Amino acid sequence: MVSIRQISLIGLSGVGKSTIGEMVSANLGWSFIDTDLLIEEKTGTNPAEIITSKGEQYFRKIEENIIAEAVENEFVVISTGGGAFLSSQNRLNLGANGYICFLDATPKAISDHLKNNPRSVPRPLLGDSPEILESRLYQLDKERRNSYQHADLWVPVQNIFNNFDTESEAITKIVSRILKAWSSESRKLLDSSRRLERLSQAELPVPPSAIVDTGLHKYPIWIGPEELKFLPDRLRQLNLTNRRVFMISDSNVIDLHGTSIVEILDNAGIAGSSYILPAGEESKKLEIAEEIYNWLITQNAERRDLILAVGGGVVGDLAGYVASTYLRGIPFIQIPTSVLAMNDAAIGGKVAVDLPNGKNLVGSFYQPQAVISDVSTLTTLPSRSFNEGFAEIIKHGFILDPDLLSEIKDLGNIHALQHDVSQLAELTARSARLKALVVSSDPREENLRMILNYGHTIGHAIETVSNYTEYLHGEAVAIGMMGAARIARHLDMIDDELLAMHSDLLRLFSLPTEMSDMNLSAIVQAMKRDKKVESGNLRFVLLEDIAKPVIRSDVPESVVVKVLKEISKN
Ligand code: NAD
Repeated sequence: MVSIRQISLIGLSGVGKSTIGEMVSANLGWSFIDTDLLIEEKTGTNPAEIITSKGEQYFRKIEENIIAEAVENEFVVISTGGGAFLSSQNRLNLGANGYICFLDATPKAISDHLKNNPRSVPRPLLGDSPEILESRLYQLDKERRNSYQHADLWVPVQNIFNNFDTESEAITKIVSRILKAWSSESRKLLDSSRRLERLSQAELPVPPSAIVDTGLHKYPIWIGPEELKFLPDRLRQLNLTNRRVFMISDSNVIDLHGTSIVEILDNAGIAGSSYILPAGEESKKLEIAEEIYNWLITQNAERRDLILAVGGGVVGDLAGYVASTYLRGIPFIQIPTSVLAMNDAAIGGKVAVDLPNGKNLVGSFYQPQAVISDVSTLTTLPSRSFNEGFAEIIKHGFILDPDLLSEIKDLGNIHALQHDVSQLAELTARSARLKALVVSSDPREENLRMILNYGHTIGHAIETVSNYTEYLHGEAVAIGMMGAARIARHLDMIDDELLAMHSDLLRLFSLPTEMSDMNLSAIVQAMKRDKKVESGNLRFVLLEDIAKPVIRSDVPESVVVKVLKEISKN
């Protein structure tokens, strides 16, 4: 049997391919080739100069020849230039005997890193000026992501840039992840004849909008205006045919969207049945989970069958919890139908039920087989629920992506947005991709995933003290983000402009920026009981700037109380 004797790294310029590639090769005792450096060695000119003097097309030809030469080597790690994977010839050459890893981080993180660490090697196509670096990387990310996503392994490297681990710790973890996945998956690859056929196509098929890849589990997130129509095709793509499908939905969603899913499955000859729970958070409890177990037993549901969770976050959390425990775990697919679920709850494998003592107290990490988000389902959401979900999208912008915030700022008529499915698909894909990046980097919330709690320390406390009756989750998070921004302002971490940006963006979606009159010491007590407390200190995710989140456990209680007063309606 042929063994895989090459590993190649692809991704945007500046993402760390050379550093990581050198370490991977050192670990394996293999050699290392950086194709940009090899080009320089062979031609006596660096890629940036070649592009400037002779044009990009000329450079790409040289690059193809160099890659063809590089893959002649055995036992080698190859780091490629950012645009190399756009060429079908390069894809085929790299894929034929090698395992291809896509290193992914946000353009903002990469550009900040490059600005702070100017390197001697000029980077083709990025230009010299730091001002255009960020926008150029966003543009390249947009142009190249579809092809990058055809790599064999998707490796989130955001940890290197976010300083939760030291840079060397983060790199060590990434290297071991690549080695582990390569050693366990590379044999499987050789059996897939369709892989090379796909890589060699001039026009690559459109990949999923996002991918979650935790190293142990990899699954697609398909987002689009007509995704439900493709459900039988998606099941085929996932090798989930020839099994029964058990749909779990709620009393609101079933008539609006569930029945058409049943029809689509029936028409495709896929057998199954449905369980409908009463809509609302009250259903997310063990008693209902037990009812569903009993229903599955009476249906003779087997471990190889499939659960579809069709609804908002309540259905997703509950059905996911049932899927994770019934017969010690059966496969499930998330089909989120609320903004909140598409952008947050359905991605990342946190599944749970509530106990009388608190929310989400019993649960597990259990990844779905796929997330299928048909944004046309959002057109039937009550407008308050629609708006609520945008708190999480705005949150993703603040912690990771200034460009997403600019896009939201320019949206115009928010009421019309609910019926603009192509715009919704675009926004959802951007935001879901950010969540996928973070949970793939840190599936069990040990470091980077904590940044997703921006606005949640105060937000959860508000939900607890108001008994989950006054505010929807996203609304409480909106107030929580205002609180976090005000704390950061008091600590001189951010300026007035960034503080005002919080309220401006939240108000666009009629989200609250102040809370009703509540017992402030009860809120402080609730924060102290929260999962996010560390050794008795309140722990906040705060911003130093957009896309610069930090965890702070040293915020004086006096500042917290002052801010709670500021965000209280008088
Ligand atoms: P939800 O599931 O209760 O949905 C909100 C309401 O909208 C419900 O009445 C529902 O029936 C209705 N609905 C859903 N889709 C609809 C549609 N397309 N048209 C019309 N009505 C529709 O609540 P949610 O806001 O989606 O999610 C909140 C839940 O998600 C909470 O339980 C929260 O704990 C959980 N959550 C989980 C995670 C996670 O990582 N697992 C993250 C965030 C929130």
